Amino acid sequence: MQDLTEGVARFQRDVFPAKAELFAHLATHHTPHTLFIGCSDARVVPELITGTEPGDLFVIRTAGNLVPAHTPGADGVAASIEYAVAALGVRDIVVCGHSACGAMTALAEGHDLSGAPAVATWLRHADASRARTTAAGDVPALVRQNVRAQLANLATHPSVARALAERKVALRGWVFDIATGNVEDLTATGTVEDLTAAGNVEDLTPAGPALAA
Ligand SMILES: [Zn+2]
Repeated sequence: MQDLTEGVARFQRDVFPAKAELFAHLATHHTPHTLFIGCSDARVVPELITGTEPGDLFVIRTAGNLVPAHTPGADGVAASIEYAVAALGVRDIVVCGHSACGAMTALAEGHDLSGAPAVATWLRHADASRARTTAAGDVPALVRQNVRAQLANLATHPSVARALAERKVALRGWVFDIATGNVEDLTATGTVEDLTAAGNVEDLTPAGPALAA
């Protein structure tokens, strides 16, 4: 606790006075431009990575940066997503995975999670990611596949689906590398399906012989 107490004292002495004007504004305004969904991992600090100020990011951090697909019922992650999108009107949503992710490593390497049943259950939200990652033990591949899967899960939330249809929000998938500080934008490299496309006429029937034939 000693470090935290000293940290608070340092904040009040050095940091807060330098940003007093900003905090005075933030005291009555909450208008973040981005919903940032990252891993709870202590090494992945959203504001530091993005060079943002207090008030800029609405942050959700979960183990493995997992976003459960929408289901009826109470869910803290869903409530935070809905609030950010529908009430605060964020314009961007970033799902950020990272190197050396403990959650993804446990999944990729098939660790025994019987001693951590809550973790084991939570990580089931990455089942689709794991199913799409062919090479067992390939943590970097699973990290990337998982970001894509969570973007798809995100789009199942009604508030996000509505904002996407109205082109009010854009989804981005990132991977942060702890050793180099590099941020890979999976969206920019075209490795994330365009979930923001809306208004297209789409043929939902699979190509090939009709199913009734
Ligand atoms: Zn992680």
